[in-house]
Amino acid sequence: MNAMETGPRVLLKRLREVMAESLGAQDKLDKIVDHIAANMVAEVCSVYVLRTDDILELYATKGLNPEAVHEVSLKVGQGLVGTIAASARPLNIQDAQSHPSFALLPETGEEPFNSFMGVPILRAGRSLGVLVVQNKKKRVYRDDEVEALETTAMVLAELLAAGELKGLGATAGEYVLNRPRTIIGAGFAQGIGLGNIVLHAPRIVVTNLFNEDFEEEIKRLGDALGKFRISIDDMLERSDVPQHEETREVLETYRMFAHDRGWVRRMEEAVRNGLTAEAAVEKVQSDHQARLQRVSDPYIRDRLSDFDDLAYRLLRQLGGDNAADVENNDHENAIVVARNMAAAELLDYPRGSLRGLILEDGGSSSHVVIVAKALGIPVVGNAAGIISNVENGDEVIVDGTQGVAHLRPGEDIRASYLDKFKFQAERQLQYKKLRKCDAVSVDGEKINLLMNAGLLVDLPQLSQSGAQGIGLFRTELQFMVSSTFPRPGQQEALYRQVLKEAKGKPVTFRTLDVGGDKVLPYLRSVHEENPALGWRAVRLALDRPGLLKAQMRALLKAAAGGELRVMLPLVTEVREIRRAKEIINHEMDVLTRFGHELPDSFKLGAMIEVPSILYQLDELMEEVDFASVGSNDLFQFMMASDRGNANIATRFDPVSRPFVRALKLIADSAVQHKTELTLCGEFAGRPLGAMVLIAIGYNSISMAAASIGPVKSMIRHLDIGKLRKILLPAIEETDGGQTLRELLEDFIDANGISY
Ligand code: PEP
Ligand code: MG
Repeated sequence: MNAMETGPRVLLKRLREVMAESLGAQDKLDKIVDHIAANMVAEVCSVYVLRTDDILELYATKGLNPEAVHEVSLKVGQGLVGTIAASARPLNIQDAQSHPSFALLPETGEEPFNSFMGVPILRAGRSLGVLVVQNKKKRVYRDDEVEALETTAMVLAELLAAGELKGLGATAGEYVLNRPRTIIGAGFAQGIGLGNIVLHAPRIVVTNLFNEDFEEEIKRLGDALGKFRISIDDMLERSDVPQHEETREVLETYRMFAHDRGWVRRMEEAVRNGLTAEAAVEKVQSDHQARLQRVSDPYIRDRLSDFDDLAYRLLRQLGGDNAADVENNDHENAIVVARNMAAAELLDYPRGSLRGLILEDGGSSSHVVIVAKALGIPVVGNAAGIISNVENGDEVIVDGTQGVAHLRPGEDIRASYLDKFKFQAERQLQYKKLRKCDAVSVDGEKINLLMNAGLLVDLPQLSQSGAQGIGLFRTELQFMVSSTFPRPGQQEALYRQVLKEAKGKPVTFRTLDVGGDKVLPYLRSVHEENPALGWRAVRLALDRPGLLKAQMRALLKAAAGGELRVMLPLVTEVREIRRAKEIINHEMDVLTRFGHELPDSFKLGAMIEVPSILYQLDELMEEVDFASVGSNDLFQFMMASDRGNANIATRFDPVSRPFVRALKLIADSAVQHKTELTLCGEFAGRPLGAMVLIAIGYNSISMAAASIGPVKSMIRHLDIGKLRKILLPAIEETDGGQTLRELLEDFIDANGISY
């Protein structure tokens, strides 16, 4: 007999036959353990299945006391079986009873058996159970026997996951896969979302586990690996693949693995044992995941993602005879899960059905997060392990405020969130009722509430939120969600559309605020030690006037015959405004010369976000038609605290004397020079911040659309005169008594201000 016709290949064939029989799940499993024991010349073969309560229950055995089935159980981490489940690693022991982890289960009658080989039943790196063989004779099982048992365990895992063993006891495998889990990450965008998982990269599911002809299958694997290696080499050479250091590093790692003998050998071994090439890729991948998931080093965890991607690419190369993409086309209440994604990709999902985003990696200021915020959906980032722990359609609660994702939540968690949702929904209803009301205080002062925007998808919010106009249109978002430089015609079309949809409400466009952390992949950038203090915003515009010119031309054309308001970001010295004006005036001349109609009214403003400009306020207020405080940047530069750094996020309070005095200085200067003033940072969108601003003289503020309701509600309860009487002297106080925040909180309580 050919050696290949015995051993694991024959075993897998038997398993396939058992699966095809019309038997109940328990009978199938009983037969499976019989076959494994016979094939591996073992006196014992047992299957332990992990229950939802983290208990491993004996589900089937050949050789141990049959009475013990469903009666004997171990905790994860307890005994040899529990150790295998906990570590997701095999154990191969000559004398089991002398092993330090050994825990005798007398009901099983296992005393006579000395040698022990157990492997985890793994799926996507998760233990679903443990498969064990035992012999009386003391022996160490050979490596190929361990591999064969692992291959068999992989088949068992797939059968459990595919529901082929449904009806088995408490349908244990299914339960473990459906177990509730909380993944702690970081809150990237506030809010709560409830919905169903949509995996951004469709997972490939292996549909045929068993090969018919292993030589043919080895050849398929070899061919796919060859193509895979070529595709990586190509990517390393292609000019349209970003050649950043990090991208190259990842590709180089792929190349290293694509040529790694160990990786290839393990896959070939699995094929020799009877798996299809696709199933072999998945088996080796699952082993990798299991190993790496237990590592806490962030660098190594990153490599875990690389491996996932590697396997995904290789499965694609295999062409899919034995695998299928499981796309989830049901995007109703979608919570999108991705390792990371480009901002534009998020916009491909139907907006009305997006409920949240969970990223395995990503930075809080990454472009996709900026877009998610614009869409008003909660985001949890740094959610380690999310992708391997979910299936399409799983229920999930995304809590972007706490930075956690509750997968397949249990009744208790769901109930507590349903209360929060109800509360949120009731509030929204109240805000909706206020939509058409003015933001007028109790003592009759009217405040102009504007919204921030940056994409066309934001525009419907203008009427829905009741905002009076757009106080900040971040034009860089169009550039950030695009994979190539938006052509002048595309820029003009966007601005035209924005003005059209604004229906006469004022819109303030900010010129490109790129550079720093707002990187455009297609714009060559230089490496900077301190990008926030670097070559960005108006600095870049003045050094590369072509950018500013093209954008101004697009804006001027789009607003022909109407009103155009434009402001410059990150102005550090007034001469920058003067220089920009020259460029803009030149563009106006050119357009006029070529017979284009100009806007009827053009207003130029500057953003106050660098502390130096506080010492040039007089000149600034004279130079511009309006000014707008970018409190996010102004606060980070004044307090020397990075706006994206979670460690210092709560260290300094914007509602504190130094910052509020600076804001008041600006407001006083605007009044003195009769210059229009707004503030468009996050500060304006917090009811407490807005209270301060209104009291110190800001009668126009711009915020995220979702903040308009709460801020308006606050204003309609507020007696501004009364607040001024206590707040203005407190701002100037020098003995440090009560903090401004405490004073405001007391005021809110004493005056029944709600929002
Ligand atoms: C700011 O800095 O406050 C601001 C509004 O601009 P951005 O957040 O886009 O930097
Ligand atoms: Mg800014």
